[in-house]
Amino acid sequence: MTEEVHEKTIQAGKILRTVKEEVKHLIKPGVKLLEIAEFVEGKIIELGAEPAFPCNISLNSDAAHFTPKRGDERVLKEGDIVKLDIGAHIDGIIADTAVTFDLGDNTELIEAAENALKSAIQEVYAGADTSDIGKAIEKEIREMGFKPVINLTGHGFLPYVAHAPPTIFNYGTERGVKLEEGMIIAIEPFATNGAGKVGERGETEIYSVISMKPVRMKMARQILSEVEKYKTLPFAKRWLKKAPEIIIGKLVREGVLRSYPVLAEIEKGLVAQAEHTVIVEENGAKIVT
Ligand code: MN
Ligand code: MN
Repeated sequence: MTEEVHEKTIQAGKILRTVKEEVKHLIKPGVKLLEIAEFVEGKIIELGAEPAFPCNISLNSDAAHFTPKRGDERVLKEGDIVKLDIGAHIDGIIADTAVTFDLGDNTELIEAAENALKSAIQEVYAGADTSDIGKAIEKEIREMGFKPVINLTGHGFLPYVAHAPPTIFNYGTERGVKLEEGMIIAIEPFATNGAGKVGERGETEIYSVISMKPVRMKMARQILSEVEKYKTLPFAKRWLKKAPEIIIGKLVREGVLRSYPVLAEIEKGLVAQAEHTVIVEENGAKIVT
């Protein structure tokens, strides 16, 4: 089982590497966010996997959970700091990675996130403590004069679950958990010149199923039958044939769907992110993305 999981993770990771390379030509001012998202999601499928979640393109002070909506006309602009966070899965086995592109002058902020990721990965081995990973992330980011975002974290995976234990904090915590050989984890430092915290800013396009409760309204049933194939993985409203806000809202209130509102830096600070999925090995980490 473990070996099969590793193989699928490695394959999904390889696909994401290719996608990250091939999407570069679209990361320039004037290109629609929707075109980028559809390119990424289409490429993942073309290469033999499925998107593990909608392509996230969080700009500037948005840190996570932004994906364009259907018919979205928004475009990349000169000066944008562009976080592309993408995931692929094969039979529910997930790889997850993020990279930040600079359309402005934020080299150092991006470097802080990237250096933090590098240092964090150096802390990975069987028996390592996740608190040391958090410490390494915080140290790198603070040394460059920025703050880590404390309420976004790295994580483990389960089949069809994109965020599972262990939680990998982006700062030094008192106590962590021990990594075990063969564990698959995503490490994802976020660096900001703001307060170091994110909050919801009131736009939501991403959802996942919490539990398939019976629902009465016909439209709600249609939506649930359409999203059943994603199991517990996040999906975008724009992936659905019809998704009236009133029905989606009702499904969220009834505990059928979970919503993932866009998370933005609370002081409107700029945010950079770097993320890799790694397999914990006896003496180190194998980076799969
Ligand atoms: Mn990610
Ligand atoms: Mn992640």
